[in-house]
Amino acid sequence: MIAVSQTLFAVSQDGEGLRTAALELMEDALDAPQREANEKFADYSADPEQMRAAAAPQRTLSPGYYMWLGYVAEAIAEPLEAGIAFRDADLGADEIMTLGILSEARAKFRRLHPPCSGCGKLLRNEWDKSCNDCQRAAAAHGRAGRGS
Ligand SMILES: [Zn+2]
Repeated sequence: MIAVSQTLFAVSQDGEGLRTAALELMEDALDAPQREANEKFADYSADPEQMRAAAAPQRTLSPGYYMWLGYVAEAIAEPLEAGIAFRDADLGADEIMTLGILSEARAKFRRLHPPCSGCGKLLRNEWDKSCNDCQRAAAAHGRAGRGS
């Protein structure tokens, strides 16, 4: 992956851009099930192109940022989490900086999207306590409880 790091060298100098891109990638993953639903729906819509445009991930930076983050996440962060050790000499300064940005972004993402108290699914809003499914189940349970 030396070629990637060389072409994207300038990208990794932009920590602020990388921070934004990392968070966008995580938000994308959260939105993915909904986006797939939108894409399916687009086939039946009167204006499928417009529907698809609305369904596209919201990415504000050039593709190089996401490619670089994807490379660092897959080639370095995942092996690290799996317990594979890198020597300092194995990693460039850009890669080490990006690892820090990825873990910062992950911490921020977790703050923005706490897990549902019922099923553990990540919630859309910081202030939510449980997901729609669990709220509905709790409401149904409440009604059943009063009935008996
Ligand atoms: Zn839930």
